[in-house]
Amino acid sequence: MPNSMPCNHASDTCLTTPELQFDWDTVQTVFLDLDGTLLDLHFDNHFWHEHLPERYAQQKGRSPVEARALISTHIKEIEGSLSYYCLDYWRDFLELDLVALKQEIAGRIALRPEAENFLTYLHTLGKNVILLTNAHPDSIALKFRQIPIQHHFQRIISAHSLGIAKENPFFWSTLQGIQPFKSARTLFIDDNLQVLCNAKQQGVRYLLTIAQPDSTLPARQSDDFPALDCFRQLMNGTVSTQLP
Ligand SMILES: [Mg+2]
Repeated sequence: MPNSMPCNHASDTCLTTPELQFDWDTVQTVFLDLDGTLLDLHFDNHFWHEHLPERYAQQKGRSPVEARALISTHIKEIEGSLSYYCLDYWRDFLELDLVALKQEIAGRIALRPEAENFLTYLHTLGKNVILLTNAHPDSIALKFRQIPIQHHFQRIISAHSLGIAKENPFFWSTLQGIQPFKSARTLFIDDNLQVLCNAKQQGVRYLLTIAQPDSTLPARQSDDFPALDCFRQLMNGTVSTQLP
């Protein structure tokens, strides 16, 4: 486990940070995930595990227990596929308007600490900053209506526009076809460890994850990827451990 050091921020999530050093000069392109990375995953977890089962039970005349079991079982069955992230797929499966249901709790959508400052920082460094998300375009639009950060990105790419999820072994080669990048000069930050493993196998050089994607759940550690407690770790210039 990396050593801890103070992070210059008042937020509880930024009180201690693992040591990380980052040679920004080597990085041209920064791919950033959205949910659980820039945005608090609490909204999505609450939606899928609480709000959606509750509203499904109400609208379909099922018990909350039945609704929760149906949805959680199907999540496990299709997790990691593009369908898992596809609001059209879920609309057809559940016969519910998921966009409208998400809108009902849109007030829960929130940035993770320092996320927008980090985006501004990347802009000052002159990096090519690209949003790279499995989120459905309707979900991205909903999030950006609530948290308007879209102007920070040179490009916004949804896996739905490629037809395969970030977990797919062909994702990165397919991405090269529409967004050329140099793997050795690319940083990718994502809270999804399966997605990061896939990126590693495809040769993306700099990979970071998020220690606490959902602010209401405990932080976690990854043996495979450095886990950011706070984006300020990459901004304060006091860090000292070279990433692989
Ligand atoms: Mg994510």
